[in-house]
Amino acid sequence: MKQEAPRYRRIILKISGEVFCLPGGLGLAREPLMRIAGEIADVAQMGVQAGVVVGGGNFMRGANFAQELGIDRSTADYMGMLATVLNALALQEALHELGRPTRVQSALAIPRVCESFERHRCLRHLERGRVVVLAAGTGNPHVTTDSGASIRAIELKADALLKGTKVDGVYDDDPARNPAARLLGRVTYQQVVNQRLRVMDIGAAEMCEQYGLPVIVFNLFKPGTLRRVVLGEPVGTHMGAV
Ligand code: UDP
Repeated sequence: MKQEAPRYRRIILKISGEVFCLPGGLGLAREPLMRIAGEIADVAQMGVQAGVVVGGGNFMRGANFAQELGIDRSTADYMGMLATVLNALALQEALHELGRPTRVQSALAIPRVCESFERHRCLRHLERGRVVVLAAGTGNPHVTTDSGASIRAIELKADALLKGTKVDGVYDDDPARNPAARLLGRVTYQQVVNQRLRVMDIGAAEMCEQYGLPVIVFNLFKPGTLRRVVLGEPVGTHMGAV
């Protein structure tokens, strides 16, 4: 059977930590972990070079933690970055279990645990068909993994930044509260920035605009959707200049 040709040669996939746990829960659960690994392995099998930026919100987010515990925000952000490393290591194991060679590269150096992010080494892994799971965001506090994802997508010259979420894309209102909310097939960078649409951090969206990086928001929970996005099918919400 002839294999369909992917539209994108290299992608950065951003996945929020919350996709790794059971609905309403915290931490990691095997079922979503293996399901997500399966989706990623599937597109890697198609020959797509895949870097995966993982969030850490299933363990903690710096802003909330700093407030709840009354601790310094920067420290809480470093804790949040370490939380992303937990997800990255679990995802690496899951991908290995599925037979897909994978490396974790962290923006914070933890040499006993994983490689540190190094652009050329990362590119080499990608070119050799290894999935690279990018942990610890940017390595700097006061931003989130959305910024990490846009920076990595730009410096690794990805063809698109794919944002896997629990919903089908970007809506004109919160679909959880308003059942009449409409899914938008296309949004501009300016709409996201000016209307504060909750697609990604404003700083990250501005960076995508500056470099003309296409962003596609899609439902990672619907099996096969990542594959459809990679094949260029009109699923999810596309963010671009027009
Ligand atoms: N974080 C950070 N710098 C980064 C990336 C992440 O300080 O470059 C911290 C921040 O506290 C953030 C937490 O790590 O809240 C977890 O990341 P994020 O909130 O992006 O996770 P997600 O919501 O995508 O699961």
